[in-house]
Amino acid sequence: METRVLIMQLAYLLSAVLFIFGLKRLSHPDTARGGNRLAAVGMLLAIVATLGGGQILTWQWIIAGLLIGGISGGFMARLVKMTAMPQMVGMFNGFGGLASGLVAAAEFLRYSLGVAGTADVPLDGSISIMLGTLIGAVTFSGSMVAFGKLQGIVTEKAVKFKGQQFLNASLFLGIIAVMVYLVLMTPGAIVASNPGTVDLLYYVLWVAAMLLGVLLVIPIGGADMPVVVSLLNSYSGLAASAAGFVLSNNALIISGALVGASGLILTRIMCKAMNRSLANVIFGTFGQTTGKVLVKGEKRTMADVNDVQPDDVAMLLAYAKQVVIVPGYGLAVAQAQHKLRELCDNLEHRGVNVKYVVHPVAGRMPGHMNVLLAEANVPYNQLYEPEDVNPDIANVDACLVVGANDVVNPAARDEPSSDLYGMPIIEVDRAKHCVVMKRSLNPGFAGVDNELFYLRNTMMLFGDAADSIGRILEEVKQL
Ligand code: NDP
Repeated sequence: METRVLIMQLAYLLSAVLFIFGLKRLSHPDTARGGNRLAAVGMLLAIVATLGGGQILTWQWIIAGLLIGGISGGFMARLVKMTAMPQMVGMFNGFGGLASGLVAAAEFLRYSLGVAGTADVPLDGSISIMLGTLIGAVTFSGSMVAFGKLQGIVTEKAVKFKGQQFLNASLFLGIIAVMVYLVLMTPGAIVASNPGTVDLLYYVLWVAAMLLGVLLVIPIGGADMPVVVSLLNSYSGLAASAAGFVLSNNALIISGALVGASGLILTRIMCKAMNRSLANVIFGTFGQTTGKVLVKGEKRTMADVNDVQPDDVAMLLAYAKQVVIVPGYGLAVAQAQHKLRELCDNLEHRGVNVKYVVHPVAGRMPGHMNVLLAEANVPYNQLYEPEDVNPDIANVDACLVVGANDVVNPAARDEPSSDLYGMPIIEVDRAKHCVVMKRSLNPGFAGVDNELFYLRNTMMLFGDAADSIGRILEEVKQL
């Protein structure tokens, strides 16, 4: 093996090791930043090795790509709001899939246009090209629909019609047939003698795979899109892996496989945290109705709630022994994490024991709340999981629910008929007092009304969470 290639392969191996250690370190908040850096160094090493490997055709294209990608990525990272992260990740997955599909297409054209110097595509090469095309195209179009649903450009409702599953299955089988035909036909003489048909069929494969991506995602409701985005993330990894096989690039094969596997594990974790199966996410119609009638009794109104003011809450918190904070999606919307930290620090200085309890699906993406709280430098040892506090929650003086709704909905525990039934919750309704901060009585993401708001030990503090916390803090400082 040429020395340069050997060095490149060794660098790939080292970068794969860095990816694996990086991923391992991502599993704990303390080590996550270091893990991210480690994986980034691994990626830089892989890129430098590829560029120095002597297999680059033109530097102009690479530099142009780096500039366009780097500048637009930098702008997006700065401009996109934290609450819009899921759709941004969705779009990234889509572009990842498209890039892998285009690598496969470029390789196909290299043979078909005769640039490769032979029309004889090796069997493993043509299988990789077809798989890369299929997975890449499905990931791209599916992710674009997911992005559109999360962004509100495409209807959030599940689009279902008669014979849909039959159509999807037929399309899938048709695609497999075309792929098998193309794999068998691409080598040698047949390409040379009949290039038009093979080329045409390859373009048909692209269109059919893109259509399949759209058809697979439209029947899934907007409420399940974050899970779909995670699944598509896994597909984008598989597409990258297929592109790695196309290019015989070990770094791409390994990193793609890691993304594929971790995306799948994340999808499983999300389904488990919602107590749903993946099949139920893909074929069910979860959270399609909004403002459903309350599980117990009549539809309630503002007159039925115990509406309080910041000074009442300040008293309750300042004289409590133990306070549990439950952050939810509203914390991200209000960007109230810094004020929340300030309030909690103040309470701690007064001798109150404060715990932050983070539900695995609070917010709109895995780790959403951890990211926000880390941004405000909340110490990791103050973060707890629901199962750490639920057994003893009856002894908690006050639970402060900051923009959370579904993750504290008792219907998930008590009402078998509820869409949320079976999802583990933080049982704030069992605490001595519970303060819920939100702007209205509107339901959360799942569209299920919440009986918690009407319980005797619940106080509703209406308004933007950042504003409310700021006012509570002012009151606490006066006490
Ligand atoms: P929810 O979506 O249930 O509720 C958020 C609440 O925040 C709303 O009721 C809203 O009420 C309130 N809110 C919004 N803006 C503000 C504001 N500025 N100030 C105060 N309150 C505000 O969030 P949860 O975190 O409780 O639950 C997450 C949901 O997302 C679950 O259903 C989960 O299954 C789902 N999900 C999460 C995923 C994840 O990975 N994290 C993935 C997939 C799904 P109002 O409008 O009245 O203010």
